[in-house]
Amino acid sequence: MEEIKFLCDFMLGKLAKYLRMFGFDTKYEKGIDKIKMEFIAKTENRIIITRNSYYKEKENCLFLETDNPKEQLIIVLDKFNLYEKIKLATRCLICNELVKRVDKKEVKGKVPYYVYQTKDEFSYCPICQRIYWAGTHYKNMKEFLEKIKNAGGRSRTGTDF
Ligand SMILES: [Zn+2]
Repeated sequence: MEEIKFLCDFMLGKLAKYLRMFGFDTKYEKGIDKIKMEFIAKTENRIIITRNSYYKEKENCLFLETDNPKEQLIIVLDKFNLYEKIKLATRCLICNELVKRVDKKEVKGKVPYYVYQTKDEFSYCPICQRIYWAGTHYKNMKEFLEKIKNAGGRSRTGTDF
């Protein structure tokens, strides 16, 4: 089966980052109109995720009522049954590109000293060259993921993190 791909509308920047952090191919572009959005979705076989009720009943679209990014994330994970497909920290949060592992010695001087001293695993984005490591944000997302998994998967509200 082909990998699921998303296209988030301009209201959903944070959700797009979360989805990327969980390893899902998620396109997010500011300032594109409906026509372009639908064109991208169609040609790249992406599901439109949107806050625009115009898409409420449309095929291959998910309309989100809540503007809370964490709730949105849970809805998407539930809706498409993505829990088993999560691959944390495999994608650049900015470019949506798959990151590549890199040797620790290669990042010397390119990451904060403390990070270099305390972390062993690094990856980088071949497009923007950003270097990633398992930091606080990653840890929070991991905990959040455990929380929603333990709670059984179905949509809940009021998750705080
Ligand atoms: Zn990048």
